[in-house]
Amino acid sequence: MNEKRIPQRILLGPGPSDCHPEVLKAMATPLVGHLDPVFLEQMNETMQRLRQVFQTRNPLTLAMSGTGSAGMETVFVNALEPGDRVVIGICGAFGERMVDVASRTGAEVIQVRAPWGKIVDPGQIQEALKSHPRVKAVAVVHAETSTGVLQPLEEIGRFAQNYGALFLVDAVTSLGGVPVPVEEAGIDACYSGTQKCLSAPPGLSPATFSPRFEEALERRKRKVQSWYLDLTMVRQYWGMERFYHHTAPITMMYALHEALGLLLEEGLDSVFRRHLVNGRALQAGLEAMGLKLYADERHRLPQLTSVWIPDGVEDTLVRNRLLNEYGIEIGGGLGEVKGRVWRIGLLGHSSRRRNVLLLLGALEQILR
Ligand code: PLP
Repeated sequence: MNEKRIPQRILLGPGPSDCHPEVLKAMATPLVGHLDPVFLEQMNETMQRLRQVFQTRNPLTLAMSGTGSAGMETVFVNALEPGDRVVIGICGAFGERMVDVASRTGAEVIQVRAPWGKIVDPGQIQEALKSHPRVKAVAVVHAETSTGVLQPLEEIGRFAQNYGALFLVDAVTSLGGVPVPVEEAGIDACYSGTQKCLSAPPGLSPATFSPRFEEALERRKRKVQSWYLDLTMVRQYWGMERFYHHTAPITMMYALHEALGLLLEEGLDSVFRRHLVNGRALQAGLEAMGLKLYADERHRLPQLTSVWIPDGVEDTLVRNRLLNEYGIEIGGGLGEVKGRVWRIGLLGHSSRRRNVLLLLGALEQILR
């Protein structure tokens, strides 16, 4: 029935991306129990694959049940307690979301702001660390999906380490599209989502935590305020104990296992190159059509391109025509650029030359 009602789309928005057909097939695998030895074995393999993709040896590497926001919330509720202090870099909608999530823990949030479309200046993060004693954590978004900016991490990671703070990174749109070198960048907690560059449906949040993060978790004075996202319990299901915490979303775990397998089979370097080549081709094509790109040229993501809507062109009219006449979905703007930019994703399986040409051709027809 659903097949008749739901059309086939080409997903070129900010996520979800096109799901890889092999991932969809894996999701049709019969269910087994969430404590079945075969399933537990597959979980171990998933953890191993995640470590490769996150470029880390962190023992605590798993997938939280829930979308990317569940990963964000997991990181903040486990890292922070009332009275703690956290520095957050903000240059778009997902940095703003971090502030909201972090402030609900009762921690004091020190905001380091940059104009939308630019990166957060690492020097300003250092200033914030200098002027506020005992900062427990520093957090930034690696790939700001609302603007299409790639935030450099290494320098901020060094500053966090120098001041004894944990470094927390949102890699929802970056993981699988550009390198996320967790260990090299000194990241202590990093979370992602399945529906962007991993080409699986939304539903899990892969995440990794350094031994330093786990030590900080041990030193907490109070229990983690969220029962569902409490890593001290969730890690016992993913670890040797196999302690029942909540029923794992089995089908989504099949999807993630398959998606990671496909990514590693293609090879991380090839995957990054594919995203880069297609992203730059799309950006060059848009500029050749006379459109202006929004994100700072020096820090543009290849997998998510934001472009100013030309004067006199109506946002929703164009997006509706793309959807209805060409079956292509792109995204509108968020927050302060709502109605003023489009966001075009070439995420994961959607990052194909065919899609670049299709979109440029369709957009040219509509805007002509
Ligand atoms: N962080 C970033 C950078 C995102 O792009 C998104 C979603 O687009 C999220 C967090 C939230 O993820 P989700 O919508 O899967 O909860």
